[in-house]
Amino acid sequence: TTRVGVRRNLDGEQVRPLKLCIIGAGGFIGSHLCEKLMWDTHHSVLAVDVYGDKIQHLLSPGKSWSDRIEFYKINIKHDSRLEGLIKLSDLVINLAAICTPADYNTRPLDTIYSNFIDALPVVQYCRVYHKRLIHFSTCEVYGKTIGSFLPADSPLKKDPAYYILKEDESPCIFGPIEKQRWSYACAKQLIERLIYAEGAENDLEFTIVRPFNWIGPRMDFIPGIDGPSESVPRVLACFSNNLMRGEPLKLVDGGQSQRTFVYIKDAIEAVLRMIENPARANGHTFNVGNPHNELTVRELAELMTDVYCKVSGNPRPAVPTIDVTSMEFYGQGYDDSDKRIPDMTIIKKQLEWEPKTPVYDLMESTLTYQHTTYAQAVKKAMSKTLAN
Ligand code: UDP
Repeated sequence: TTRVGVRRNLDGEQVRPLKLCIIGAGGFIGSHLCEKLMWDTHHSVLAVDVYGDKIQHLLSPGKSWSDRIEFYKINIKHDSRLEGLIKLSDLVINLAAICTPADYNTRPLDTIYSNFIDALPVVQYCRVYHKRLIHFSTCEVYGKTIGSFLPADSPLKKDPAYYILKEDESPCIFGPIEKQRWSYACAKQLIERLIYAEGAENDLEFTIVRPFNWIGPRMDFIPGIDGPSESVPRVLACFSNNLMRGEPLKLVDGGQSQRTFVYIKDAIEAVLRMIENPARANGHTFNVGNPHNELTVRELAELMTDVYCKVSGNPRPAVPTIDVTSMEFYGQGYDDSDKRIPDMTIIKKQLEWEPKTPVYDLMESTLTYQHTTYAQAVKKAMSKTLAN
């Protein structure tokens, strides 16, 4: 059901219906954002993407929100309709980007073009037509922590000053150019700086979002099922695929890197607050993550194995994980972020937002989705391969 009643922002002011141009609306984050906007608000969406599969359920005719969403199958690299759509809208949200680590070192040019060059006209149209811009960046702009350069046994490693990532204080620390992993972070950093400068010199109204490992249903793809069989998605989809196939989960370089995971539905709540509270969000860069949900990749593998056995009813595998080198798994030029804990001070203060879902719960709902959506198809694909 759609609630089209009066909406109020955090300051009690009425929020009028907005027309949002969402670029990358058909991706993982875009699909959840569109759902939220259609199901719980009165806002309208011009949904721009090269694929619409993940929002097909919102686009089929006859829904109560059907007059509030339109899909434009557009590649922003070369389509003059983009300018007109931005002109028509009240607010632009740019989610379009290559954002899977397996691409950063193997397709560095596509990565840089997608994250900087292709994002540039969007920023410029927003400046020219005086449109608010919410631009999606990444926690990866922080790169490595200061603490990662300390000796392994240094007591300072335990001091939050050496690892907590703060929007307005932490440096951006990337590896050398040969480590092409950082092509993504560097392109994102430059577009962030450009947007910030447009704000400073030309009064562009902007908000920058730095997602910290948002996860949930519809993230990435399962290789060979709804994505190319030779492609490598992000860790949630890699491990899900391994679990459904009954193969060991691959731990890259020992699985010692640490990540904090936030449930997509919690994170979308933060984005909606940015949309509806421009006075609180403009000019800010926000970490959006869950500092309480930290795991090493090895711990993530253990958790996902436990939860998947529970939701699928499968027995625990005899060999749950195997170690692989990053060279074997990603090829030359891979490097890693060691640890990513977001400081939450700014978003808490500005938007009164806090993440809610503990990591076990978000994994349970996500793996239930993976199992019901893909397990049969994976089984079928495996028996076909065997038969051949
Ligand atoms: N990783 C892993 N096995 C996999 C896929 C990823 O050990 O099958 C590791 C990867 O090296 C990184 C972490 O999991 O340390 C998270 O990777 P992801 O691709 O999700 O993206 P990131 O958080 O680095 O942006």
